[in-house]
Amino acid sequence: MAATTHTVTNQPPPLVGYDVFTADTALAEGVERHLPPALREEVRGELSELGRAAGSAHAQRWGALADGNPPVLRTHDRYGHRVDEVDFHPAWHRLLGHAVSSGLTDAWSRPAGHVRRTAGFLVWTQAEAGHGCPLSMTHAAVPALRAEPELAAEWEPLLTSRVYEAELRPAAEKPGALAGMAMTEKQGGSDVRAATTVAEPLSADGEYVLTGHKWFCSAPMSDAFLVLARTPGGVGGGTGGDRPTCFLLPRVLPDGSRNSFRIQRLKDKLGNRSNASAEVEFDGTTWARRVGEEGRGIATIIEMVAATRLDCVTGSAAVMRQAVAQALHHTAYRQAFGRPLAEQPLMRNVLADLALESEAATALALRLAAAYDADTEQERAFLRMAVPAAKYWVTKRCTPVAAEALECLGGNGYVEESGMPRLLRESPLNSVWEGSGNIQALDVVRALRREPAGLHAFLTEIGTARGADHRLDGAIKELLTELADLEGIEARARRLAERMALVLQGSLLVRYAPAEVADAFCASRLGTDHGASFGTLPPTLDLRAVVARARPVVEDGAGG
Ligand SMILES: Cc1cc2nc3c(=O)[nH]c(=O)nc-3n(C[C@H](O)[C@H](O)[C@H](O)COP(=O)(O)OP(=O)(O)OC[C@H]3O[C@@H](n4cnc5c(N)ncnc54)[C@H](O)[C@@H]3O)c2cc1C
Repeated sequence: MAATTHTVTNQPPPLVGYDVFTADTALAEGVERHLPPALREEVRGELSELGRAAGSAHAQRWGALADGNPPVLRTHDRYGHRVDEVDFHPAWHRLLGHAVSSGLTDAWSRPAGHVRRTAGFLVWTQAEAGHGCPLSMTHAAVPALRAEPELAAEWEPLLTSRVYEAELRPAAEKPGALAGMAMTEKQGGSDVRAATTVAEPLSADGEYVLTGHKWFCSAPMSDAFLVLARTPGGVGGGTGGDRPTCFLLPRVLPDGSRNSFRIQRLKDKLGNRSNASAEVEFDGTTWARRVGEEGRGIATIIEMVAATRLDCVTGSAAVMRQAVAQALHHTAYRQAFGRPLAEQPLMRNVLADLALESEAATALALRLAAAYDADTEQERAFLRMAVPAAKYWVTKRCTPVAAEALECLGGNGYVEESGMPRLLRESPLNSVWEGSGNIQALDVVRALRREPAGLHAFLTEIGTARGADHRLDGAIKELLTELADLEGIEARARRLAERMALVLQGSLLVRYAPAEVADAFCASRLGTDHGASFGTLPPTLDLRAVVARARPVVEDGAGG
């Protein structure tokens, strides 16, 4: 009898079997905008292939399995030897393998490589976000390694390779490799100058042994790590000269033996559960090679950090897009009070508001990637100012977006099978790592004080949109007033970073997005017509058009 009551009605079909790239109009248009015409067709094809893979049932299954079966640390073998290995579910390897073979660690050698990779990263991490961590670090290690040309010649081809090989072997024998980063120590993460790890020179040609403890070292199964440590000769003199040096630490030594890399434990994290984040110790025999000059470690590794910060923006844009796509899809099918939820005026307001946040994040990530590709003095100065502001603001928006999108699915959204809890757990992370919110805001201030070219480039960029929208013009004016007085700027740094990011997003949308999107963004984010929560857009705006633009369309008809 019970079975006869079990009739399933009014439940949406799963959002599966779709092209995550082409279903995202804002992303597809943004990519087109930032590519030279000759590359457009090729890149569209490449991203669409990745998009179909990301939206497939098998990739979604890999994502759920990798998240539901977290990595396990294996410190010793059966005979008691230390091995310090991490066992991952096969789904993790499939996700990483697909990403690497799709070029998600290769942005530095291809034309428009950053726009292509950023778009690809935005697409593919919607299948699962945790494995984005080694992808980001591997990609980002390249510019830091270039401080040491000999090392770069050895490792760059491996890090940008399309071949994923999980096995730990000497670099010379590997067809491809992953890299991680270990800066954070127990006594200081944001303040990396507080590092106490010590490096003793072994030879005159850049070999050292390290002693110390790193409190966070993600993706510890990687083949090599960029690490900060103090040297006897570091600036300031004496052991632990007052500025750290950067080193490359391989897991396997050139002779095939294991380097000493003691993984003490894995962190039990809120989200990002498919990825391993470890505490590691270097025991005085840990072998490493210097990257860049002694005492210049922060300047060297900052090249890596800047690239991973862009990935934090992109990763947050991906989490937001996936959360919003799920909300748009669900509410298009689910009926309540006589019509689809998405047709209810108040739900439409919520959806449009979420869609604006997602589109603004995507547009900003792509603009930053295009600046990396351009690599002119002006664009480098722009990045110096725009990356920390974007990292601060976009990553901060991710959690409220994920939470509100979850609520659009009602009770279903609170249930693990929907995937929404996973997105919500992931959502705060990009704001915490690679420099937490305050550090980003203070970095904006540092750039203001030290690099006037950065502010000039930033103002030139937003200035190109002047006159297009009076609310944007007003916000630019307020920003200039804020910038005119740097007295007490530290305590105002968050206000400033937020305002800069919003004005930049507004200027991008005014220039490139359809009028209804730009109008709604400027009214709510730059004007005063918005409440503290989502769904408080002025109802006079064309919210229907904003929602229609963002809704993921599934070609076989499942998505509508
Ligand atoms: C899941 C995960 C993975 C990670 N993986 C890695 C990794 O692979 N490699 C690595 O090196 N690190 C990694 N980290 C560490 C991460 O980068 C640091 O946790 C982060 O930079 C903050 O450092 P902290 O934890 O020491 O916090 P603290 O430096 O103690 O900061 C605590 C808070 O104080 C704020 N704060 C600090 N200084 C100031 C100031 N002057 N004014 C105002 N506020 C301030 C910060 O913004 C932060 O909110 C990871 C972290 C997480 C959560």
